[in-house]
Amino acid sequence: MNYDYLIVGAGLFGSVFAHLMKQQGKRCLVIDKRPHVGGNTYSPCIRGIHRHDYGAHIFHTSDPEVIDFVCQHAHFNRYTNSPIAIHRGKLFNLPFNMNTFHQMWGVKTPAEAQAMLEEQRREARAELQRLGLSQPQNLEQQALLLVGKDIYHTLIKGYTEKQWGCTANTLPPEIIRRLPVRFVFDNNYFNDSFQGIPEGGYNVLTDSLLNGIEVRLSEDFFEGREEWMKVAKKVVFSGPIDRFFDYCFGHLPYRSLRFEHLEVEESNFQGNAVVNYTEADVPYTRIIEHKHFESFGEDVYRLPHTLITKEYPAAWTPGAEPFYPINTPEANACHERYKQLAAQQDRVIFGGRLADYRYYDMAPTIRCALDAARKEAQ
Ligand code: UDP
Repeated sequence: MNYDYLIVGAGLFGSVFAHLMKQQGKRCLVIDKRPHVGGNTYSPCIRGIHRHDYGAHIFHTSDPEVIDFVCQHAHFNRYTNSPIAIHRGKLFNLPFNMNTFHQMWGVKTPAEAQAMLEEQRREARAELQRLGLSQPQNLEQQALLLVGKDIYHTLIKGYTEKQWGCTANTLPPEIIRRLPVRFVFDNNYFNDSFQGIPEGGYNVLTDSLLNGIEVRLSEDFFEGREEWMKVAKKVVFSGPIDRFFDYCFGHLPYRSLRFEHLEVEESNFQGNAVVNYTEADVPYTRIIEHKHFESFGEDVYRLPHTLITKEYPAAWTPGAEPFYPINTPEANACHERYKQLAAQQDRVIFGGRLADYRYYDMAPTIRCALDAARKEAQ
């Protein structure tokens, strides 16, 4: 046993955990089946622009310890996410705020917007009552209660159903609670106190975390699992938990994504980093223009070209990249059974999005790694 920890996965969970254990004087080996570190935050520099190769990653949190931690490893720029939504050629601001309400209904004051929304929310509440429900049971009911039918049908239903590949009335209500609803003219997608993108790309953050730690890339844990299990006293597994247990309780359902990366010979393609296409019949959910994550004002025109990515939702089949866990009650119950098996593995620590089977943003992933490392140090 040459190492104290073999860390499977060089994404945020694995990198943070490895960093903290190295600080404790532990010998760590990190392996990843991909040819790069950083997991889905990987953003290589292509023609002078950092491209978010696995979808837009915008760091945001209000967790003081996480803020403090990441700021020790990277300098964050002032990027604030304020996506635009396009529906039948009309533009709307997101998240749902006074700008959206004005664009939708022409209302100009919070009182007018509240009145409009209340009328539609009343309808949604009446429908729930008719069904004998005290709480919304699915995303559709939740969305109608939050923003009413006009916004639901224009900005949510089409996007959600293509994103998840099923009808909104079969999805859990929590997904739509991620989005704020506010009665001020504020297009900031997040409510968090801290937001930005690491200057120089996410590789600055992960390279700093993994500095001085042995990393082996293009190494698949599952090819040679028995050998890998022998190289360290403990294994930290941040891959899919169902795969670790050979799918003995079946596959946990995921939604996958396909990215179409394009270079465009024009300096400013869409004027914003994120533009959502909310109609069901547009096959992609959004177009990302990467330079806007790191160039502001006149700097946008410094380069005569731009990089864009069209994001297509895709069915997950074994072998495809698992992106979004589909946390239905049945899937969560299945994950619970895997968790019970995991609890019996005294030499393996499980953590991160794929092991926890949770819809984690980056900051909660880091929070989990900080907690896991703290628990280990006890
Ligand atoms: N959503 C929507 N319309 C939009 C953007 C988001 O209906 O224009 C819904 C959709 O169901 C999505 C959820 O809100 O899955 C969460 O969106 P978010 O932008 O947080 O998703 P992510 O960036 O993680 O894909």
